[in-house]
Amino acid sequence: MENGKSKREDVCPGKKLDRAAVERQLKETKGPEYWRSLEELAGSPEFQDMLHREFPKGASEWLDSVSRRGFLQLMGASLAMAGMSGCTKLPLQEIVPYVRQPEQVIPGVPMYYATAFTLSGYANPLLVESHLGRPTKIEGNSLHPASLGGTDIFAQASILGMYDPDRSQAITHLGDVASWAGFVKEIRGPLAVQKALGGAGLRILTQTISSPTLKDQMQAFLAMYPQAKWHVYEPVNRDNVLEGSKLAFGEVVETRYDFSKADVIVSLDADFLSPGFPGSTRYIRDFAARRNPDGNMNRLYVIESSPSATGAKADHRLSMRAGDALSFMRMMFMPAFAQLGGTHTQPSPAMEAELQRAHSIANDLRRAGGGSVVIVGDHQPAAVHAVGHHINQALGNVGKTVFYTDPVNANPVNQVESLRDLVSDMRAGKVDLLVIMGGNPAYDAPADLGFADCLKNSKVALRIYHCLYQNETAELCHWSVNEAHYLEAWSDGRAYDGTLSLIQPLIAPLYAGKSVHEMLAALADAPDASGYDIVRAYWRKQHAGSEFEEWWRKSLHDGWIEGTAYAPKAVTAKLTETVAGWSDPSAIEVNFRHDPSVYDGQFSNNGWLQELPKPMSKLTWDNAVLIGPKMADREGIKTMDVVTLELGGRKITGPVWIQAGHPDHSVTVHLGYGRRKAGRAGTGAGFDAYALRTTNALWFATGGKLTKTGDHYQLASTQGYQTMDTGDGATRPLVREATLEEYRKEPKFAKADEPPAALTLYPGFDYKKSPDAWGMTIDLNACVGCNNCIVACQSENNIAVVGKEQVVKGRHMHWIRVDAYYQGDRDAPKAHFQPVPCMQCEDAPCELVCPVGATVHSSEGLNDQVYNRCIGTRYCSNNCPYKVRRFNFLLFEDWETPQYKLMRNPDVSVRSRGVMEKCTYCVQRITQHRIDAEIAAVRENRQFKIEDGSLQTACQQSCPADAIVFGNINDPKSRVAKLKALDRNYGLLADLNTRPRTTYLAEIRNPNPELET
Ligand code: SF4
Repeated sequence: MENGKSKREDVCPGKKLDRAAVERQLKETKGPEYWRSLEELAGSPEFQDMLHREFPKGASEWLDSVSRRGFLQLMGASLAMAGMSGCTKLPLQEIVPYVRQPEQVIPGVPMYYATAFTLSGYANPLLVESHLGRPTKIEGNSLHPASLGGTDIFAQASILGMYDPDRSQAITHLGDVASWAGFVKEIRGPLAVQKALGGAGLRILTQTISSPTLKDQMQAFLAMYPQAKWHVYEPVNRDNVLEGSKLAFGEVVETRYDFSKADVIVSLDADFLSPGFPGSTRYIRDFAARRNPDGNMNRLYVIESSPSATGAKADHRLSMRAGDALSFMRMMFMPAFAQLGGTHTQPSPAMEAELQRAHSIANDLRRAGGGSVVIVGDHQPAAVHAVGHHINQALGNVGKTVFYTDPVNANPVNQVESLRDLVSDMRAGKVDLLVIMGGNPAYDAPADLGFADCLKNSKVALRIYHCLYQNETAELCHWSVNEAHYLEAWSDGRAYDGTLSLIQPLIAPLYAGKSVHEMLAALADAPDASGYDIVRAYWRKQHAGSEFEEWWRKSLHDGWIEGTAYAPKAVTAKLTETVAGWSDPSAIEVNFRHDPSVYDGQFSNNGWLQELPKPMSKLTWDNAVLIGPKMADREGIKTMDVVTLELGGRKITGPVWIQAGHPDHSVTVHLGYGRRKAGRAGTGAGFDAYALRTTNALWFATGGKLTKTGDHYQLASTQGYQTMDTGDGATRPLVREATLEEYRKEPKFAKADEPPAALTLYPGFDYKKSPDAWGMTIDLNACVGCNNCIVACQSENNIAVVGKEQVVKGRHMHWIRVDAYYQGDRDAPKAHFQPVPCMQCEDAPCELVCPVGATVHSSEGLNDQVYNRCIGTRYCSNNCPYKVRRFNFLLFEDWETPQYKLMRNPDVSVRSRGVMEKCTYCVQRITQHRIDAEIAAVRENRQFKIEDGSLQTACQQSCPADAIVFGNINDPKSRVAKLKALDRNYGLLADLNTRPRTTYLAEIRNPNPELET
């Protein structure tokens, strides 16, 4: 890749998509019913070529001498850190393990500690595995109501963030390394000046916080400096939600949903099943539990302005520009709920069909009689949220499926206004001392505020920054204090429902970083206070009784404090006079969204997240200008064409990705890319969409202009990779689905092509010696495509990051992938997710062709891979119809960087260059459980047995939807055996008679019969 131009345009799918040719082919041929890419839909020669290849063209050849240097630079060694591996220390204070407390740490026996990860102020409860004082794996806290054992990709990948060698490793003053003592001494004078002024020139800028301890500290600090101001800003904020509640109720409240009780759900641009949405881990669990077609199945309508994972799960999805949401909502509900007030213009005759659909949805909601939810997306304006509150109230949902509580945010101000005030004071010369705690406002503040310029050119005499990275903001501040990672620090926080979590460190700070509590204490004349003392002292004040020690230990052990969820509040929505109009249909709408993988940019330097294929586009390592197929046709734009996008006199340039299902006359750009100072993985990746984002167009605005530059840019999408050849995809699809009605008529529809069990020439394996035969089911109805299983597998199994160039060549290493299939019209397709790990076939094609017996069948039915026998012929991979084997074409793993050595799971075998690797059902976990079970059986003088449910694979454990179930298929009482006995159970490519041990439960949709006709 040079100057943004591909050197390898012959590499499919890097080859440019010729839309005119595709259109011609689409007219002439009947494409498959389910398709993963527009190339496949068109049956293009490039797709056919890739279909019959083991890896994309070029993956098996050594053509580019730059490649190896490229990824070494990416994940490369930081030799200056050598010796690090001998330096880990547990925190000095007593931390309380979750499960058991041995008298001493035993090598090989991990410990588990409860803690929490905070994103945009919301705490996500966790259980962290630690080997000899080194945190190695993140899990959800199964006892906590916000997790129930699930996690999300940001929490899973946060462990890589802690070991990131690019983290800020020292305090710096004007770029030179300094000390904590030096910093404390230097700020004493300016703080004394401010004390005399009552803090009139002092400003503190934080991110969203929910920590009661930090709030308490901040209040005490502001009491010392009464005229100082506390500003809050995050680019992914909830200002609209907050203002919407003020509009409806006259006060700020948090809205909480109970999807377990919702029969009908309408999402208006709310991607509530995706990581990053507050409460999504619990919401996914509750939603997925109601997708059981043999129970009381829910129905989901999604009206959205950009294709999302939530939209993919919809029974009915309507693509709509964000600016039309208010009018659509009014159109939907006005006949039924005249009390909504306000006015809207009538839709054009062209929208007559939408009008009918809207009324059908409203009728369905009313029929649910208080058992429904209307949820509005955070980027929709306050007026839409207010209408949403009215509708939930009118439907009788409040108190049943919708609850209002105190806000989780400790300082729920309008964050854009708060930042605007700060900039205005800085410009006016009213700020002498600015302390920025976390965030990266020089990079992500709205462009019209000119925050970075203001910081650089203002007269703020002293600028102090406390953060994990030496980033774009750090370079504009005098002092940069390196922050302790949450796995190194004491704190607390609230989950989406208000439940309090205690945050305890797993390891002493790797770089002597300071927590936010210690930083604020230093500003408040207590530079030696430890985070532990501060947090404990706060909770001591809350629990004055003699039983505090017992309470403290229990709370640390559990990771949360029972009974602290906010109680529902009684509030009544008032009438609001909002006026809604339809946006100019020919004007281009520009939408800003946080990135599905790197969020707002704070995870830009996380290689796991950068290489994680985004749910709908499967793009890695870049963002793109997403447009719909119709717009691409009209503008003559092809995928990977570079365009200039203009809005309000500002311009950005980036490559186009044509996204099936994207609304017409609309563009989506993801935030979080185009970083100048992120680190080796994040710097320079993608383009900076913040440059176009302003205070009056924080989430969307019309008036965009798209112009082709004539350039082409290589994107790395895995969308077309590992495409499986069904031979007859029309009648034997890989994803199998039916409507609820069809399923009830023909429950065994998914099994149509299962061959009889006895139809095989191979002698069966003798499993009599082992009581366990491992197998797995994946429920396609429950899976929401969140990708968490991919990151969990990567973390558990020490799977390498390969870098963009290698992804383009199809050499990514994920052992489980989540395929996205589309169905039907490319402008309004249905979408389906299918996670694909190794199928652990009973009659495995891979085992037959390995010349050295490196892939063999185990006595428990696993297709084992013996790494040190593998000589890299790749016959096994060539013969695998599921394309689930991954080959180390190069030495992808970084064995040099000391921090990464600490992070790795010591129970997993080392792989190197030239070796095939694959999913093992987490054989290291199976082995550990077997040993534990055998020891327990001997000790208790009973038959050895691994209890059903006690052993989980990493993907299963992390899955918030409980879509993956693993266990002993020999035991008819096991959960997996029961699921395999369901009518919906089917094997992928089972007609090949591979007899896969991993099977799927077919997807069932629950469409509204009124809309189906
Ligand atoms: S199976 Fe994977 S992608 Fe699907 S919901 Fe579970 S973790 Fe997410």
